[in-house]
Amino acid sequence: MILSIETILADVPTIRAHKMSVATMKSQTLVLVRVRCADGIEGWGEATTIGGLNYGEESPESIKTNIDTHIAPLLVGMEASGVAMAMAKVRKTIQGNRFAKCAIETALLDAQGQRLGVPLSELLGGRVRDALPVAWTLASGDTAQDIAEAQQMLELRRHRIFKLKIGSRSVADDVSHVLAIKRALGDAASVRVDVNQAWSELDAMRGIAALQDGGVDLIEQPVRADNTAALGRLAARFDVAIMADEALHGPGDAFRLACAGSADVYAVKITQSGGLIPAQQVATVAQLAGIGLYGGTMLEGSIGTAASAHLCATFADLSWDTELFGPLLLTQEILREPLVYRDFMLQVPTGPGLGVQIDTDKLRRLVRQ
Ligand SMILES: [Mg+2]
Repeated sequence: MILSIETILADVPTIRAHKMSVATMKSQTLVLVRVRCADGIEGWGEATTIGGLNYGEESPESIKTNIDTHIAPLLVGMEASGVAMAMAKVRKTIQGNRFAKCAIETALLDAQGQRLGVPLSELLGGRVRDALPVAWTLASGDTAQDIAEAQQMLELRRHRIFKLKIGSRSVADDVSHVLAIKRALGDAASVRVDVNQAWSELDAMRGIAALQDGGVDLIEQPVRADNTAALGRLAARFDVAIMADEALHGPGDAFRLACAGSADVYAVKITQSGGLIPAQQVATVAQLAGIGLYGGTMLEGSIGTAASAHLCATFADLSWDTELFGPLLLTQEILREPLVYRDFMLQVPTGPGLGVQIDTDKLRRLVRQ
């Protein structure tokens, strides 16, 4: 039986400023959910978002309020091992609130995996890989600093895929910033850009043409999320891969975008999708439609990152890798044993459930008062 559901906000500084077209982050608010069950098992989930309300329509504070006030009371007293039944009740009763739903579903599945003694990946159909290639985001806003950071990551054998956050400067300035980085790194690295919706379709036509010629491998969400027609025209016009991110809010969007031929690649995010199971449906739609998969992040800490890793480990084809680097951007770790990044890959945890253990003493020091 589900005894209680607790929502925790923890503010953690980032290792450097993280500049995007929508916001500059200097700290991240982790939104953590702890489900206590009558059999003594505790499950954890995460609903962390980016940049308050700059990126999406849920904020850390609204997620906490909505879970505490509206979602937890629905679930307390229900059978903890009936994860699908619990989530069906939440999805029937609560509109929207995808991040909150994701955290609850993750925590219930974490508890269920521990109960059954299997990793979360096995509850999702089973893993086909034990490690995931991980991109790093270069977002200092400074070309020389970004190049130095990328070269350091290559030397450390931590990342060889780099995503550049652009869109806050002119198209010409952004293009010269990206191409300077691509020239400096050469064939040793894959360079990709995320425009976070900042370009008009005309901007995008000029910008993408130059980036494609310069050897950039992927263009993420160049235009507004709701302008899926423009996204589709760009995907048809250019050979370079066009990826949908903000345009994808779960399986319904995945289906509509696939029918319209709007993108070559989907950024699959468990929070944006509304949970692990809906995110798996997004991936299934993509694979049926011949759309490539990329494991996206909302810059979650270790819990959400582990959850995403368990899901990505089940994808038959993960040709565009992942960006599950969130914990590496944070100055504080809340796990007893941090997630393992080595040889350019995140190792998917192998223990029951999420396969991570929370250091509650460390977490207590970070909790917002
Ligand atoms: Mg993105």
